[in-house]
Amino acid sequence: MLIRANKGAWRPQSTGVSIASRLWLAFALVLLCVVASLRPLAPALAEELPPPALVAHGYKMAGDASRVRLVLQFDGEPAANWFLLRGPHRLVIDLPDTRFSIEPEATEARGLVSDVRYGMISAGKGRLILSTEGPFAVEAFDILRNTSSPGYRLVADLVASTEAAFEAALADQVTTTGSTRSTPKGDRVVRSEGEASQPFTIVIDPGHGGIDSGARGTTGTLEKDITLTFAEELKSRLEEDTRFRVQLTRGEDVFLRLDERVRIARQHGANLFISVHADTIRYRSVRGATVYTVSDQASDAEAAALAARENLSDELAGLSVEDENHEVSDILMDLIRRETHAFSVRFARTLVGSLSDRVELIKNPHRYAGFRVLKAPDVPSVLLELGYLSNSEDEKQLLDAEWREKAIGSVVTAVRSFAGATAATGG
Ligand SMILES: [Zn+2]
Repeated sequence: MLIRANKGAWRPQSTGVSIASRLWLAFALVLLCVVASLRPLAPALAEELPPPALVAHGYKMAGDASRVRLVLQFDGEPAANWFLLRGPHRLVIDLPDTRFSIEPEATEARGLVSDVRYGMISAGKGRLILSTEGPFAVEAFDILRNTSSPGYRLVADLVASTEAAFEAALADQVTTTGSTRSTPKGDRVVRSEGEASQPFTIVIDPGHGGIDSGARGTTGTLEKDITLTFAEELKSRLEEDTRFRVQLTRGEDVFLRLDERVRIARQHGANLFISVHADTIRYRSVRGATVYTVSDQASDAEAAALAARENLSDELAGLSVEDENHEVSDILMDLIRRETHAFSVRFARTLVGSLSDRVELIKNPHRYAGFRVLKAPDVPSVLLELGYLSNSEDEKQLLDAEWREKAIGSVVTAVRSFAGATAATGG
């Protein structure tokens, strides 16, 4: 609407306001829209604030058209991952929350590197992008501890290569991501000596919270309380296995936006995301657990209705929902998404199998629909409906610690099996 009004203002008219000042007004309005759309996700709503920003400084680039070395200093150890993009050829380096203190002259085009960009791309996530004159290979990518001064440095060596080699590297990064890391080839980052291999990270998302209570049981049980209790119990059971690192999206009764839940999973580099729910259904006799994965096409009308209800969470809390398509459409991203989806489905099947040994499941217990909370492109994600609060038997079970322990045992078994399988396939 604003844009339309601006366009009207461009028409020369014989009013007292000059065209120049109208142009300025239009410019200011457009700028306001841009600034408003760039505002970061509300971090105050997150259960935990992201760790304090690292400072990146001392950017240096040296070399020629055949090879370039990039060195970037950090005041702390950055968890950095990289991947390649084409059109133009780019090296994308993902960084944690970073404050970039970089001299503009240092990033001027040099040799192989034609353009350098950096900045925060979302709350808690920094990014550095190097575009090149042509195809290249990443010969080295290391995070090294400085010996004579405090801090760490990122050192990357790019060498000119052929189009075929670049394409092969692109294809390779797609097939080897395993979609269990936030970016492909993260394991190529050289870690400081003595550091153990990365633990398998599970982010558990207790559905609803705060102003959004979720479903209400026949005796008044609130879904947001059931999901939090279950998530906390599941977390402590999983943590008994030292190979697992477990994070909750919320550890108390607070409201979280759906995209914030997804962001927390990605921020922690989750290998698996489990959103826990206990909704109601219009058929009171329906009971049992269900495992959902994301899909544009719903498996059935009930799954579609449930996803639609869940997706309203932000609106119900009085928040405006931003356009979801801020992810740039990219062939590589699509491939990663597809592969992630295959992993989500694999885990869902494993989970259904292990739940069926111990708890009641609904008919066709693996279902799918367009849940927004399951849309991390690179984190295998499922939504676990523990049971239906609309069914009094299910409600009783959800409140029963013994039943929860059985169900949690099944989830732990499934996670172990999934983690083992992805490790075996190099994921
Ligand atoms: Zn729910």
